[in-house]
Amino acid sequence: ALTQKFNSVFKSLSGKGKITEANVKEAMREVRKALLEADVNYKVAKQFCKDVQEAAMGQEVVKSLHPGQVMVKIVNDELTKLMGPVDTQVYFVSPGPTIIMLAGLQGCGKTTTAAKLAKYLISKGKKPMMIADDLQRPAAIDQLVTLGEQIDVEVYTEDTKDAVRVAKNGIKRCKQGGYDVAILDTAGRLHIDEEMMGEVSDVAKAVTPHQIYLVCDAMIGQDAVTSAKEFNDRLELDGVILTKLDGDARGGAALSVKAVTGKPIKFIGVGEKLDKIEEFHPDRMASRILGMGDVVTLVEKAQEQYDEEEAKKMQTKMQKGTFGFDDFLKQMKAMKKMGGMSSMLKLLPGVGQQLGNMDIDDGEIGKMEGIIHSMTEEERRDPETISASRRRRIARGCGRTPNEVASLVKTFKRSRDMMKVVSSGGMGGLKGLMSG
Ligand code: GDP
Ligand code: MG
Repeated sequence: ALTQKFNSVFKSLSGKGKITEANVKEAMREVRKALLEADVNYKVAKQFCKDVQEAAMGQEVVKSLHPGQVMVKIVNDELTKLMGPVDTQVYFVSPGPTIIMLAGLQGCGKTTTAAKLAKYLISKGKKPMMIADDLQRPAAIDQLVTLGEQIDVEVYTEDTKDAVRVAKNGIKRCKQGGYDVAILDTAGRLHIDEEMMGEVSDVAKAVTPHQIYLVCDAMIGQDAVTSAKEFNDRLELDGVILTKLDGDARGGAALSVKAVTGKPIKFIGVGEKLDKIEEFHPDRMASRILGMGDVVTLVEKAQEQYDEEEAKKMQTKMQKGTFGFDDFLKQMKAMKKMGGMSSMLKLLPGVGQQLGNMDIDDGEIGKMEGIIHSMTEEERRDPETISASRRRRIARGCGRTPNEVASLVKTFKRSRDMMKVVSSGGMGGLKGLMSG
């Protein structure tokens, strides 16, 4: 539902010519409504829309794009920020065992998650066991034992109502058995109550877990966040595991949890099967909420094409014979910004082909920049004026050798000559290269 709402907001923007304060405001009103409907915390939604608005106003709008698309990108980035940063690390102690406690309301997925986590840890080379510390429902122990059998993980059980005792004995067993992680499955209630909170905090006090994860059902939306806050007030939570994200829930809870509790989402549950656990990546979740990851990519590509416009300007300069060192430097920087060499070659045939095998990094560009800055304006415009004595002067000015200056001049000339050929249409023209 959130995805559809976002879609229509962005669509309404896409007809507009450019992003103005007025149409962003209007769009943000809609976005805020959509967030609230998706059960996102009120304060979080408000702050979020403010952040997006600010980012949108500060954004240099790329002319070739529809504002709606730019907004998708901005919203996507802000969503990522809101839920991040990535923190999927499970911290282990040495010597072990590392004790991981799972807490949460009844039915949120603790028991399932315990087994998923055990399976995940096995894949990371760990040797986990599980402790059945939900003594409230008779079936809870059997459920964990059954899951343990499926993944071949030992489960510690005891026939008592004393959760502290089971936890302690379970950890003893863990040490004896040479396990390096103990996963503690605890009892939940349908609602937060004193009894449950008392029990989990007693267990936590007794065994001082190294990690306490709150398991939250994403389907209950805002209630999940409210309970997360209450759990967080009572227990030192290390992170949240958000379950049932495979359902209809489009992440309203995911959006608010971090902002409300300050605790990162570590993992997400995306199905009932035991391999349906994933590390939480805010950027992926953001795309998922927007349901339009492809649009985000498109915007990113289009932003690169800003450099296409820049390239056209360069082409004009070439034709007029006014392409100089400053332009050259600009191109280098553009190339670096864009990353992948192959896409740059298309955009910047001259320089790109000349430097195709060269690693353009900050150091290299800094070096060129230093040399170029040491040139007079006349020299920058016209390399023919750079004689041997000028070369020595330039080298002294930037702390390089005359040879390095000579080599830059040579590279520049070759790039320029090649660009001349390209821009005069000799190789199908710059335009042809760019669209190809
Ligand atoms: P607990 O009471 O907190 O221990 O919850 P359970 O682990 O018993 O899970 C309650 C129900 O939620 C079970 O039917 C699980 O199969 C289901 N469940 C748990 N995690 C997920 C998930 O990520 N996706 C889906 N679709 N179902 C889940
Ligand atoms: Mg359970």
